[in-house]
Amino acid sequence: MALGEFDLIDRFFRRPSRRSDVLLGVGDDAALLEPPAGRALVAATDTLVEGRHFLHGAPGRSVGHQALAVNLSDLAAMGADPAWALLSLSLPEVREDWLEDFALGFHVLADTHGVELVGGDTVRGPLVVTVEVLGFVEPALALRRSGAQPGDVLFVSGSPGEAAAGLEMLRRGGSMDSDDPLVLRYLYAQPRLELGRALRGRASAAMDVSDGLLGDLGKLCAASGVCARIDLAELPVSDRLLAAHGREASERLVLLGGDDYELLFTLSAAEADRGQAELRRDFPITRIGEIEAGRGVLCERDGLVVQVAGGGYDHFA
Ligand code: ADP
Ligand code: MG
Repeated sequence: MALGEFDLIDRFFRRPSRRSDVLLGVGDDAALLEPPAGRALVAATDTLVEGRHFLHGAPGRSVGHQALAVNLSDLAAMGADPAWALLSLSLPEVREDWLEDFALGFHVLADTHGVELVGGDTVRGPLVVTVEVLGFVEPALALRRSGAQPGDVLFVSGSPGEAAAGLEMLRRGGSMDSDDPLVLRYLYAQPRLELGRALRGRASAAMDVSDGLLGDLGKLCAASGVCARIDLAELPVSDRLLAAHGREASERLVLLGGDDYELLFTLSAAEADRGQAELRRDFPITRIGEIEAGRGVLCERDGLVVQVAGGGYDHFA
């Protein structure tokens, strides 16, 4: 590598410490961290492989952002406060301008959420980025996938489907430098940490939508041992999505598209009555259905159960 490993770490990843709970950060054999008493440590890690989790030629800034964002989204889904991150980078070559962009994307998001990069690893290899994020939550208040109960009301945040629409534009040859809001939504999805905190002790179950609403909702239902019934007419379809794709294709993007990092969560009926208005004041959330006894996910249109397949809807009797 033209720039040596140590110079590279020094230049792009070692920064002045800003958290008093970091006793020792980047530079020693390992970081020394001081978790707060009485709170559980929450840990998540995700790996992004070029060509699989992000596009070949994706801007460094977006890759740096995404690698941290996907992990922060997992902490949001637990209702956790993120604190520390580790970054393992495998690079085919040292391209300083790309690395500078990458570091910028990472650090801007880290600073937004008060997260400090405390260590990592840097090796030569195919372009692969692994980030681990650590945070805290009071154990009794942690959000889990497994608490949904029949009678609960189901919500999703924001406008899922937009990131998938943006990705589609890029796959069709759209410019990575585009400032189209859908493209930006894909390249720079924002984790819902504030909403996660607001749901602590309130939501009966929660998870983040990374692989598509329908599939992820299936996981929440399986973990909770319940069935979800969603009303397709209630899905949040943004005007942008509607304008670009029309109603039917937009619904498919909302249900099947990934990479938005919105939160899917359930509230008991009483909690929904009590807290929904307050949540709505602070966050874009939409009620999309209910939880009932049973298994799996049912989609309804005009009171009829419809099947959502990859290629469209098929009514079944
Ligand atoms: P070791 O050989 O002990 O694993 P390294 O030479 O790999 O140490 O790393 C030196 C220091 O730099 C360590 O504190 C490590 O955590 C940190 N580090 C290495 N790569 C990164 C990176 N990409 N981002 C942040 N810190 C890093
Ligand atoms: Mg090392």
